[in-house]
Amino acid sequence: MSEVKLVVCHECDLICQEKTLAVGEAASCPRCRAKLFQHRGSTLEQTLAMAFTTVILFLIMNTFPLMALHLQQNTRETSLLGAALAMWDREMPVLCVLVILTTIVAPAMQIGIEIYVLSRLKWGKQLKTTGLPMVILQKLRPWSMVEVFMLGLLVSLVKLKDLADIIVGPAFWSCSGLIVVSAYMGTMLTPHNVWNWFQQRKSDVQV
Ligand SMILES: [Zn+2]
Repeated sequence: MSEVKLVVCHECDLICQEKTLAVGEAASCPRCRAKLFQHRGSTLEQTLAMAFTTVILFLIMNTFPLMALHLQQNTRETSLLGAALAMWDREMPVLCVLVILTTIVAPAMQIGIEIYVLSRLKWGKQLKTTGLPMVILQKLRPWSMVEVFMLGLLVSLVKLKDLADIIVGPAFWSCSGLIVVSAYMGTMLTPHNVWNWFQQRKSDVQV
């Protein structure tokens, strides 16, 4: 007898029977039309490779200068943390803490959990420990706001370009790359995909 897979709609709690989709197809709830999941054809290995890419981009973003200002023979460069700490010096401690939390702490935790979940699925001996990290990851994602910081930075670059020469640093480009790769990761590392990889790994272990 073939096993019937069920999926619960996250919007209206309707229990639906899961259908096998072709790559690129998406399934939606028959009652509220919410998108249930999409088959992107991404494998665990591809997602793991993307996760390690985010680690490299994150390290570059936090190690190298973000930008440098050249004005009257003086060049002053700043890093992501330096930009946040400058707000503390200008008596904006709340903003400073918010920037550090949303651009350094939350993304670092997000990347760490993603690597943990994927490594567990790929190499872990105990497969039951990915449920709670996935819940934390789903709650953490809205707090990671590197793209909001980047938008603010772009606005300041436009405003400053007439006053000083601006040299864009490696951290700027890695920050841009991180936004793109993280957005793509969000579509690959979904609870539905994790569950499928978990089932696949479980059947591989049992064989
Ligand atoms: Zn629904």
